Amino acid sequence: MNRRIAIIGGGVVGLSVAHACASRGHRVTVIERAAAERDGGCSFANAGMVVSSHFVPLASPGMIGLALRWMVDPESPFHLKPRASAALLDWGWKFWRACTDENVARAAPLLRDLHLASRAGYEKWAAQWGNRFEFVESGLLVLCRTEHALADEARIAHLARELDVPATVLTAGAVAAIEPDMRMTIAGGVHFPRDARLVPARLMSALQEQTRRIGVHLRHGTEVHGFRLNGSRIGGVETSDGVIGADEFVLCAGIWSSQLARRLGLSLPMQAGKGYSLTVEKPAATMRTCAILSEARAAVTPMGSALRFGGTMEITAIDETIERARVRGLVKSIGTYFPDVTREVLADATIRTGLRPCSPDGLPYVGRFARYANLSAATGHAMMGVSLAPITGTLIAELLSGERTTLPIAALSPDRYARSRGAATPQAAIAT
Ligand SMILES: Cc1cc2nc3c(=O)[nH]c(=O)nc-3n(C[C@H](O)[C@H](O)[C@H](O)COP(=O)(O)OP(=O)(O)OC[C@H]3O[C@@H](n4cnc5c(N)ncnc54)[C@H](O)[C@@H]3O)c2cc1C
Repeated sequence: MNRRIAIIGGGVVGLSVAHACASRGHRVTVIERAAAERDGGCSFANAGMVVSSHFVPLASPGMIGLALRWMVDPESPFHLKPRASAALLDWGWKFWRACTDENVARAAPLLRDLHLASRAGYEKWAAQWGNRFEFVESGLLVLCRTEHALADEARIAHLARELDVPATVLTAGAVAAIEPDMRMTIAGGVHFPRDARLVPARLMSALQEQTRRIGVHLRHGTEVHGFRLNGSRIGGVETSDGVIGADEFVLCAGIWSSQLARRLGLSLPMQAGKGYSLTVEKPAATMRTCAILSEARAAVTPMGSALRFGGTMEITAIDETIERARVRGLVKSIGTYFPDVTREVLADATIRTGLRPCSPDGLPYVGRFARYANLSAATGHAMMGVSLAPITGTLIAELLSGERTTLPIAALSPDRYARSRGAATPQAAIAT
C-alpha cells in the first residue's frame, strides 16, 4: 500500500531511507533543518569508507582500558570527556557491559552481512547513477607502526577470514608495492581487498538529486520541534514550518535522535563521538587505497585530487566546536606514519567536524518502536553510517511496506534499552 512517510533528518541515512521508500512507491518527505548546500556535519565530514572489514563494534574488549589510559591526554585519538551527566553515566555503564568477547561474537556476523549488502547497494547506485560519487572498490590497508599493533591486527585478519572476509597480513615492503607514491614509516599492515571508498559530498548531492527525481519532497531549512499524538500513533511533527502529517515517521536525525525520542518518552541511548577530517586539496603524493592508521585510530582516503585524513573519537556532549588540541594530536599522529605529510602540509587543510551517533553496544538502531504504531528509527551507526546507509534504507522500506526484511533485525531493535533509565512520560507531545 502506498503510504505517506515523513523522515526526520536528511543525512546519509535519512536520504538512503527516503530513496528506498520512494522506490517502493511511497510518498516521502524528508525534513532537514540544515540548508541544502551545507557541507558540514557527519555525512559530509567523513572518510567515505565502505568497509566489510569493520565487523568489530566500538564496544569491544580493551576499549575501556584504552579510554582510561587516554583520558588525561588532550591530544589522544579516543577520549571520554568527563562531565556531570546522567545520560553519559548510563551510556558509559551500558558501553562497559557491552565491551565483551560475547558482544563481538554476536555482532560481527551481522555487521559483516549488513556491510556486504550495503556495498552491493552502492554498486547498484554507481551503475545506475553514472557513479557520480566515485565509488571504487580499491581495498583498504590497516597500517601499523609497531610489531605489537601488527600482531593485534593480524588477529582481526584471522577473525575476518573465519567470517569469509578476505584479509592478508603484509610486510612494509608489500604495503609499499600497493602504495608506491606515499612514503611510510610502518612495520607492516593488513590488506582488505574487498573494501571500497567514495566521496561523501558527492554521494550526498547524488542522493539529494536521485531522491528528488523519484518524487521525494526534500524540506531543507525545516526543524522538527515536537510531536502530535493521536492515541498510540504519531499524528504529525511540529516544525519551524508548521505541522507535517504522515502515516509513518522515521527518526533519522543522527545524534539528535535521542533528544527527539526523549520527547516521546522513549529511551534511545547515544553519545556523540566527535571526529575531525582534514582535507588537503592537492597533495604532493597521494594514496591509491584508503587506509586506517591502527595505533592513531585515524583514517586516510583519496578523494579525487584531494586526500582526506579523518580521526579522533571524543565521547562528548552535542557540541560541534573544533578543539585545537585534538586536531593537533591528529596532525602529529599522521606525520608518524607519513613523514612527508608534515604540519606545514596539513596547515592549509580544510577542517570539518562531525558527531557520530554512538549506541552503547556498537550496533545501529533499525526498526519500529513498540510504543507507537507508526514510529521507526534508523540511527546510531557510529563510525559506520556511510557504509551501512543503503542496507539501512532497504530494511526500513521493507518494514514499512509489510515485507520480510532481507536480514534479521531483532538485534537492532530501537527498544533494546527500553526498560532502562531514560524512558519517561512523553513531554512536548500534544494529543490531537
Ligand atoms: C571524521 C569522521 C570520519 C568518518 N568516516 C566514516 C567512514 O569512512 N565510513 C563510514 O561508514 N562512516 C564514517 N563516519 C561516520 C558517518 O559519517 C556517520 O555514521 C553518518 O554520517 C551518520 O549519518 P546520519 O544520517 O545518521 O547522521 P547525520 O549525518 O548527523 O544526519 C542527521 C541529520 O539530521 C538533521 N537533524 C537533526 N535534528 C533535526 C531536527 N530536529 N529537525 C530536522 N533535522 C534534524 C541534522 O541536521 C543532520 O543533517 C565518519 C564520521 C566522522 C566524524
